[in-house]
Amino acid sequence: MTKPILLSTPHLGDRELEFVKEAFDTNWIAPVGPHVDAFEQEFCEVVGARYAAAVSSGTAALHLALQLVDVGSGDEVFCSTLTFVATANPIIYLGAKPVFVDSDRTSWNMNPDLLREALDRRAQVGKLPKAIVLVHLYGQSADIAPIVEECDRYSVPLIEDAAESLGATYKGRSPGTFGKVGIYSFNGNKIITTSGGGMLVSDDPNLVEKTRFLATQARDPAPHYQHSQIGYNYRLSNVLAGIGRGQLCVLEDRVAARRHNFEIYQQALSNLPGITFMPEASFGRATRWLTCLTIDPATFGADREQVRLALANKQIEARPVWKPLHLQPVFAECESIGGAIAQDLFEHGLCLPSGSNLTSEDLERVIQSITEIHYSSVKSQVIKGYSTSAKAERKR
Ligand SMILES: *Cc1c(COP(=O)(O)O)cnc(C)c1O
Repeated sequence: MTKPILLSTPHLGDRELEFVKEAFDTNWIAPVGPHVDAFEQEFCEVVGARYAAAVSSGTAALHLALQLVDVGSGDEVFCSTLTFVATANPIIYLGAKPVFVDSDRTSWNMNPDLLREALDRRAQVGKLPKAIVLVHLYGQSADIAPIVEECDRYSVPLIEDAAESLGATYKGRSPGTFGKVGIYSFNGNKIITTSGGGMLVSDDPNLVEKTRFLATQARDPAPHYQHSQIGYNYRLSNVLAGIGRGQLCVLEDRVAARRHNFEIYQQALSNLPGITFMPEASFGRATRWLTCLTIDPATFGADREQVRLALANKQIEARPVWKPLHLQPVFAECESIGGAIAQDLFEHGLCLPSGSNLTSEDLERVIQSITEIHYSSVKSQVIKGYSTSAKAERKR
C-alpha cells in the first residue's frame, strides 16, 4: 500500500522525552510546575517578548487576549478574513461582532491601506472598533508597522494571532510581539507542538498576570476560594510544557526544513504554467509553515479542487487555502471590508504537504504527481479540443 503523505504532522526532537520524564519523576503532573515556568521564560527569549503565559490552546489565548483589552458584548472587533475560524470564534464567545478585513497580495495578510481607510471612516462617525485581531498566516508576517501606526493613531489595541507564524520575522523581530498582546499555538499541526497548547505574550506585566488569573478560575487572593469574576480553566499542563521546551530547542531546524520543502517545490513546479507560489514579503522571513500556491485552471489545465482530489487519490493530503471568514455560513451576518482578494486566494489556493519530517522521496512523489496532473489534463483538453473542432468540421 502507498504510504500516505500528510499535510503537517508532529515532529519531535531529542529532548522532549527527557523533559516529560523529569515531570513524571518529580510528580509535577499538574497545570503548574517548573516546566511551565521555564517554557514561558524560554519562549520569551525566543520571540523577544517580556512576559508570557502558557495556556491550553491558541484559541484559549485569544479568548483571554480579547478580554485583556476589554472586548465585551456588542463591541466590534476588526479581524483578518483570510484565516482559520479559531481567530474569530472567541470574538463571538464574548458576544462581540467581528468585522472582516481583506488581505493584500504581497503577504496574503491584512491590507494596511484598507484598514487605514476603514478606521478613518469609522473615526468620522465615532464608531471605532474595540480591538483589531491581526493574523500572520502560513508562516508569514503581515505588514505590521503601518498597522501599528494606525492602531496607535486611533488608540485601538492590537492583538496579534501568530498561531501559524512562530519562527517568522518582521524587520528582524517576531510577529506576535508588536501588538498589545500576541498569541501562538502549539496544536499538533503547527511548526512546533505540545500536542495541544498555546502562549500569550505581552510587554505589559499586568496583562500577563491577569491572564494567569483568568486562566486559573479567577481566584481572589483569599484562602477560601472566593471569586468576584468569571474565570476559565485554561492553564497548560506541566507535562505538555515539557514537550514544548524540547520543541523550542529545534524550532530553527523546523523553520529550515519547512523553508527547504518550499524551495524544492518551487524549483520543480514554478515552471509549470498556471502555478504561482505564495510570495515572501520583503519585510521579513517567512517560515513556510505550509507551502502554498495558487493554480490558474485556464493555463494549468485543472483547477485547485481537481488537483487536490487527484492528489488525494494518490494518498497525498493537500488542502485548499483557508475559506475566508466573511464567506463562512456562520458569519454570514457579519460586515466585511473588501474580501475579493481573500476569496480569490481561497478559490485558487492550495497548501501542499509541508511537514518538517517529509523525506526527499515524499517531496518527489508530490512533485511527480502534480506534474502528471498537469500533463494529463492538458492532454485530455487537447483531445477534447480536437474532437469538438472535428465535429464542427463535419457539420460544415
Ligand atoms: C491553529 C490556529 C489557531 C488556534 O490555535 P489552537 O491551539 O488550535 O487553539 C488560531 N489561529 C490560527 C490562525 C491558527 O492557525
